[in-house]
Amino acid sequence: MQDIAQMTALELGKKIQEREVSAEEAVRACLTQIQREETQIHAFVSIEEEKALARARQVQKQIDSGALAGPLAGVPAAVKDNICTEGMRTTCSSRILSDFVPAYSAEAVARLEAAGAVILGKTNMDEFAMGSTTETSYFGPTKNPWKRTHVPGGSSGGSCAAVAAGEAFYALGSDTGGSIRQPSSFCGVTGIKPTYGTISRYGLIAYGSSLDQIGPIARDTADCAALLEILASYDKKDSTSICREDYHFTEALTGEAKGLRIGIPSDYLGQGLDEGVKKAVLAGAEGLKEQGASVEYFDLGMVPYAIPAYYVIASAEASSNLSRFDGIKYGYRAGEYEDLHEMYKKTRSEGFGPEVKRRIMLGAFVLSSGYYDAYYLKALRAKALIKKAFDRAFERFDIILGPAAPSTAPALGESLQDPMKMYLGDIYTVSANLAGLPGLCLPCATDEAGLPVGMQLMADCFQEKKLFRAASAYEKIRGRWRLPIRDKEGM
Ligand code: GLN
Repeated sequence: MQDIAQMTALELGKKIQEREVSAEEAVRACLTQIQREETQIHAFVSIEEEKALARARQVQKQIDSGALAGPLAGVPAAVKDNICTEGMRTTCSSRILSDFVPAYSAEAVARLEAAGAVILGKTNMDEFAMGSTTETSYFGPTKNPWKRTHVPGGSSGGSCAAVAAGEAFYALGSDTGGSIRQPSSFCGVTGIKPTYGTISRYGLIAYGSSLDQIGPIARDTADCAALLEILASYDKKDSTSICREDYHFTEALTGEAKGLRIGIPSDYLGQGLDEGVKKAVLAGAEGLKEQGASVEYFDLGMVPYAIPAYYVIASAEASSNLSRFDGIKYGYRAGEYEDLHEMYKKTRSEGFGPEVKRRIMLGAFVLSSGYYDAYYLKALRAKALIKKAFDRAFERFDIILGPAAPSTAPALGESLQDPMKMYLGDIYTVSANLAGLPGLCLPCATDEAGLPVGMQLMADCFQEKKLFRAASAYEKIRGRWRLPIRDKEGM
């Protein structure tokens, strides 16, 4: 039999249904990988070994009795640590929530569990999902499984690294400005940020509420489509949740590129884009063209405004969302203080890291009465124009294809020295959040250092099926993607 560690989530799910592998064996396979890799990779903030084993046995009983028959029942998963899990510590990789144990699970987690998921633990991230490298975590950085001297990307770096290292078969991430797609690109895994409102945000600890979306990170496109089918739903507990007409995402895995109209924004290919990344992504587009897709270059427009608009809006919302962490309602409280005001001040000064403080200050500034019109309102206008630019593009194209990030994974420590450069690295991802669009990133090559390069596909709102179709067609050309999972033979 194929080694469990190398299977996709759906392949494993099938073996579990066929009783060739038990849910407990699947968990043990992950725990073996975790034992082998975790001291070096540090993808997890918490690992719940006993809970996962008990849960696997419970799921197995339900499978055996016929009560559970879904394609992913019994498959072990990891969850980003900003998504609430009942009875399981949820820290946002921040000191201020380092002891927080939620009393309820996020809707996305509840839906996975109803489908038979076994949660192994919670994954590391940039503090409160602010960052692009997973280095701003209070618990220390995660390393890239392809090359441990490099970052996994962020903020869902722990989730992507766990999947890439074979420590979990899939993971949940969240994406406010690229945090699923960019680390997927850096770690050589496949991740999708769905249309805003598709997956409930209930139980996702908010960063920028108008931009945040949960999404699946997995080993290939089919796994992502199957997961989205489980995760997507209308949820009345989330006021921005949307009731969609069609939830049958796996139907779109046709592997058929013929007739797809693909547009490549010329404004994505200019200065700042690494030559190797550009070549790999354009070769990907060429492959789809050979399979019958049409490929055209065009000017998207508004591209230079995406980063400033994003950082103004995201920080504004963050400054408001994070005001709830005051030492009273949740988590950490400073040890010594004279009065209430000093308690707030000390708690927040000690509880938040420097990147989070920077965003709170920036956000409070752009919302302040003297500057609201000049910054926040202007950013909202830019956001509306960015949406219009995409509307125009999607009149002509089914898919917008481009890189997910300007480079492959940088070395540890490199990005934090220059935060401005790190912010600019989000250029290809933030617009999808500003416009509410779905975006998928899948691996298309490795660079000369052996680090993966991701290709990003974007579609109009509610057109995830087009993404799955194009991605499955591309995977047919590319072939099975091998992750750096060290199996019995040591890789
Ligand atoms: N890098 C971006 C930021 O720091 C995106 C983060 C995210 O998507 N959560 O805001």
